[in-house]
Amino acid sequence: MSAALEPGTWADVAIVGGGAAGLSAALFLARAQRRVVVFDAGRPRIAAVTHIHELLGSENTTPDDFLAHARNETVGYGAEIRNEEVVSVEPRPDGRFDVHSVDTSTTAGAVVLATGLVDVLPDIPGLTELWGRDVHVCPCFSGHEVRNAHIIVMGIAEQLAQSAKFLTAWTPHVTVITRSKFDATTVRRLHRLDVTMIDDDVSELELADQRLAAVHTETGRRLEADAVFIATPLRARSHLAATLCDVTTDGFAVTDIDGSTSRRGLWAIGNARDPIGHLAHAVADGARVGPWVNDYLIDRTLDPTS
Ligand SMILES: Cc1cc2nc3c(=O)[nH]c(=O)nc-3n(C[C@H](O)[C@H](O)[C@H](O)COP(=O)(O)OP(=O)(O)OC[C@H]3O[C@@H](n4cnc5c(N)ncnc54)[C@H](O)[C@@H]3O)c2cc1C
Repeated sequence: MSAALEPGTWADVAIVGGGAAGLSAALFLARAQRRVVVFDAGRPRIAAVTHIHELLGSENTTPDDFLAHARNETVGYGAEIRNEEVVSVEPRPDGRFDVHSVDTSTTAGAVVLATGLVDVLPDIPGLTELWGRDVHVCPCFSGHEVRNAHIIVMGIAEQLAQSAKFLTAWTPHVTVITRSKFDATTVRRLHRLDVTMIDDDVSELELADQRLAAVHTETGRRLEADAVFIATPLRARSHLAATLCDVTTDGFAVTDIDGSTSRRGLWAIGNARDPIGHLAHAVADGARVGPWVNDYLIDRTLDPTS
């Protein structure tokens, strides 16, 4: 980019977020000889679990091993990883961006937001302790691990019925606890799948030896269970997209399939743009965005006003 800038103060590409998506983009761009700086605040969503599933080649890997391996691969091609939180990204008149963390400022030719999301958990005793262990978010990741087990499904109405239906592929023991009312067709379909419906609210998760023992309800029921699947609201982890480009009401960047946002030179990938994406989708997003960012940087050298 600019030889006039001090080393360490510029990058061809600044990637904000060093989870699966950000590191995947970094791998391509570092291999494309770009000066890449990855900023990471160290709160990857996958850290909630002990083992990763549904990621070909990494089945049963721990999140720490998976991310350490991915970091080593990108650093091996020259990417720099800074364990810093980016507090603001300022577009410059020349088309580049000033990327500020608390400690550093970096001028980048392009920015990729890979900032992930937050699962907004309800305040229910026992839930935080069991999150990622016996409280699961998606049957795709852990349905196999709880096959034939007794499952409670709870959470926001929009996703409950779908989650319960999906789980019947793994176990015949699915119980939905909710005060939400479903339409008659949904109720009929869930009954045909032998899903039990309880008109109540979950009040507490009971632990024994740090595992789930039972689910308690507002009306005083106690149901023994092996696992809970919870449908939670999801919101963008970072405010950055909302300051830079079009976002949804929950703060997710609105993008094309290639990750391009409403602002030139700015891309968003992984859960920062696709809340239901898995690790495989995050990795694919990074691999897809890399060539586009590279192409953009070449075009900018040909015509800085482009
Ligand atoms: C309980 C649970 C279990 C799951 N199990 C699986 C599974 O088995 N298999 C699977 O495929 N998927 C699983 N997932 C989904 C998986 O975690 C996500 O698909 C994946 O983490 C998305 O990757 P990402 O890179 O987009 O975001 P993340 O991995 O969340 O990475 C985002 C990174 O950006 C950083 N960041 C955010 N803002 C800033 C900032 N301003 N400055 C610097 N850094 C910043 C964060 O600290 C974080 O490190 C699971 C999710 C949950 C909640």
